[in-house]
Amino acid sequence: MKTANFKRITSIVVSVALFFTYACALGPIRSYAATLEQQKAAYNSKIQSAENEIARLRKEKAPQQAIANTLQSQLADLTSQSYVIQCQRDQVDKQVTSLTADIKSLSNQITKTENNLKDMNDSIDATVDVFCQRLRTNYMNGPTSYLDVLLNSKDISSMLNQLELMKRVTDSDQKIVDKLNSDIDKAEKLKVKLSRDKNEAEVKKTELGAKKIELDKSKAEYDKLILSAEAKAAEVNKILYGYNAKIEALNDSVEAYRGAEAKIDQAIKAAELQRQREAAAAAAAAAAAAKKQNSGSSSSSGSSSSSGSTSYVTPTYSSGSISSSGWMWPVPAGYISSYYGYRSDPATGASKFHGGLDIAAPCNSNILAAKSGTVASVNYGNTGYGNYIMINHGDGSYTLYGHCLANFPVSSGQHVSQGQVIAHVGTSGYSTGYHCHFEVRDGSGNRLNPLNYVHK
Ligand SMILES: [Zn+2]
Repeated sequence: MKTANFKRITSIVVSVALFFTYACALGPIRSYAATLEQQKAAYNSKIQSAENEIARLRKEKAPQQAIANTLQSQLADLTSQSYVIQCQRDQVDKQVTSLTADIKSLSNQITKTENNLKDMNDSIDATVDVFCQRLRTNYMNGPTSYLDVLLNSKDISSMLNQLELMKRVTDSDQKIVDKLNSDIDKAEKLKVKLSRDKNEAEVKKTELGAKKIELDKSKAEYDKLILSAEAKAAEVNKILYGYNAKIEALNDSVEAYRGAEAKIDQAIKAAELQRQREAAAAAAAAAAAAKKQNSGSSSSSGSSSSSGSTSYVTPTYSSGSISSSGWMWPVPAGYISSYYGYRSDPATGASKFHGGLDIAAPCNSNILAAKSGTVASVNYGNTGYGNYIMINHGDGSYTLYGHCLANFPVSSGQHVSQGQVIAHVGTSGYSTGYHCHFEVRDGSGNRLNPLNYVHK
């Protein structure tokens, strides 16, 4: 394309130059200037027809462009919905993990309770053995049938009932047995409660498993829709590319014609000067003949053309408020859920230093670069900050954005502008809900209070 245009421009310039050569050699200046004007009119008409064709192509392209725009917005919607489902699925995953831990803990408690029950039953057996020994010793002389009943009792409770009935046991023995019986009762009740809790947790886990499958299915459907929209967009973009190529070529032609016209304009100007010079010379000759002298000449310089403007892709910006110090609030959709400084740990309750600002926001909300800079690192993980990104602002300051979704729109080493979307709010890593953990650091890695730099 470029080579073709270059050739075309070259051939136009050469033909214009040749034309001047012949015209200068052949005709008087006046007819030469008239021919130049004709030539210029011819270029004007070529420019006009190229511009008409460009307008026609633009009109023809418009409906395709509209389709492309619609597809693009559909794609954006679908992708965003797919992320929301991904977020819900992540949440369910976290709940399942937590339930699995609960079930394990409940199982351990049940085993412990069962062991306690066994110990207490053993203690009762031992106590009963002591009773029997004592009964043998103390009541050897009692009625034989009485003793028979006692010693032939099959189980503990009938034995205890017999003993109760007989009121032969000592108070302290009775207290031991009562206490054991009450403990056994409590332990049995505890075991029933633990088993019920465990069952409930298992039912919930099963339900969440089903929900997870449903979400996976729904996400797969969205991903399919995304693929088909992408395929359609690719088709339309190909058509648009065809139009753009034609329009670009025509624009290049117009530019070349205009270049040729400029050359002709210069030639017209030069011819006019020549004519004036010749007229002046003729007048001078006439004046000389009349013993008078006159001379004059002037020159003018050509105009310079302006250079084409440099265009670059503008990154996506979202609104965020800029503080007096020039930093931007990094999560427009968020509010502060936890401040920088000492606080009680959400999990352990212990006092702990919190090195950043927690900004709670809906899943997949935009996270913006607080200042322009270079992406220092993009990190993926399930612990600590989770998925997080760091920006080097080049003035000794760094910012960190934690617990993000894994869908970072920028990569390490990339330059980012203030307000550019660099990440999306998630709950990855050590996090209990959707939020961005935002840190400001100095060159030595000291964590500074972000509220000295940004404000909502
Ligand atoms: Zn935090």
